[in-house]
Amino acid sequence: MAQGKHIVVCGGGIVGLSCAYYLAREGHRVTLIERDAEGHDTCAGGSAGYVSPSHVIPLAAPGMVMLGLKWMMSPRSPFYIKPRLDADLLRWGWLFWRSCTQQNIDRSAPILRDLCLESRKLFVELAAGAGNDFQLEQQGLLNLCKTQEKLDHESHGLAHLANELGVEAQVLDAKATAALDPGVKMDVLGSVYFPIDCHITPRRFVATLSAMLKQQRVEFRFNSPVTGWRTSGGRIAAVQTALGEIEADEFILAGGSWSPGMMQGLGVRLPMQAGKGYSLTLENPRILPKRPHIFTEARVAVTPMGKTLRFGGTMEISGINRDVRPERVQQIIEQVPRYFPEFTPADFAGVKPWHGLRPVSPDGMPYVGRFRNHSNLIAACGHAMLGVTLGPITGLLTADIIAERKPTVALETLNPNRFG
Ligand SMILES: Cc1cc2nc3c(=O)[nH]c(=O)nc-3n(C[C@H](O)[C@H](O)[C@H](O)COP(=O)(O)OP(=O)(O)OC[C@H]3O[C@@H](n4cnc5c(N)ncnc54)[C@H](O)[C@@H]3O)c2cc1C
Repeated sequence: MAQGKHIVVCGGGIVGLSCAYYLAREGHRVTLIERDAEGHDTCAGGSAGYVSPSHVIPLAAPGMVMLGLKWMMSPRSPFYIKPRLDADLLRWGWLFWRSCTQQNIDRSAPILRDLCLESRKLFVELAAGAGNDFQLEQQGLLNLCKTQEKLDHESHGLAHLANELGVEAQVLDAKATAALDPGVKMDVLGSVYFPIDCHITPRRFVATLSAMLKQQRVEFRFNSPVTGWRTSGGRIAAVQTALGEIEADEFILAGGSWSPGMMQGLGVRLPMQAGKGYSLTLENPRILPKRPHIFTEARVAVTPMGKTLRFGGTMEISGINRDVRPERVQQIIEQVPRYFPEFTPADFAGVKPWHGLRPVSPDGMPYVGRFRNHSNLIAACGHAMLGVTLGPITGLLTADIIAERKPTVALETLNPNRFG
């Protein structure tokens, strides 16, 4: 096993932190460089916190293009692409359209299953080691459906595929659904229940991991944005940051939605778009469901985190910006009483919406692997809606790659060079 290398991880979100953890655990000297200050919020921070093996269908699936076009006409829809004359967006859109096929599902679903299940195991291990500081709850996930049409669609589509892949999915009627979370009144026709899914409090997870890295003597360099690279003979010699240059043996690109921009000057195009999502957290909810739920038609995720309750959703492809679109936030709020009639929009008065940028690849699969033209640069980005779930396994995979051992999960579909 190759040990004792100096490795620079670029980006301190959940993926970068996870990479640093598994690399340091193998005896490497790790430096983590982060653009923002210590304690900065990450995309995981306000996420729904699901660790979800049930998510075996990639975002790029048949029907998504038509659904996206339909939803684009409605300002309150869960999915929105802001039309822009931008070469990267046009190329991404074309690759997304090409990926929305049954073949993409057939190829990607077993890999997503393996990635999610392996990562779930790692979360259980990490929770055991950290006294479950980050509130890993093994309560499953219920995809709630209000209409028979949606329940049939879910049971013939996602539930069927999940069961075929060995991820248990139970199709439940309204009574059986209510029995799983009797504390909350639900106006639904039924649900699909995934007992293996679990959830965490993601800000706590990031804090726990950061503390573990300090114990492992990982060197943190905050306020150090990557500004460029020094290359030599097909390898990266050093990464340049606002605070100076750092030489190392290996470099991990874990910049989330900023990863393509971080590679400027390297002549590599990594198709990716930022997919903005919003969440609202009720500190004192009038009712606290026991389990996480997805409002399936509305695509809103609901997660109990400690005593708080979080609602999250929307996928807004509008570039890298911090703009908050009130109509999209309102769309989340308005859905809540439709599924949970005891809640009212007034429950959200004064709650500040949080937003984060998901790094979305065109085929819905992350990028993990070495770049063809820069042999010591490893991609760890593009996790879209699964970056929390897949953080730990991505970290372990980067350690597998550097150790040159058989990867814990097959890497072919994650190849960062797959779009040329
Ligand atoms: C509303 C919402 C709900 C979600 N729910 C879930 C869920 O339930 N389960 C799940 O699995 N996933 C979920 N996700 C997705 C998940 O949050 C993301 O996929 C994941 O957090 C991405 O992590 P990352 O480390 O790749 O990116 P980030 O967290 O964005 O980290 C990238 C880091 O790179 C740093 N950086 C940027 N530029 C530079 C530079 N030039 N130099 C140095 N550093 C730089 C940034 O400051 C940042 O810290 C959700 C996302 C949203 C928005």
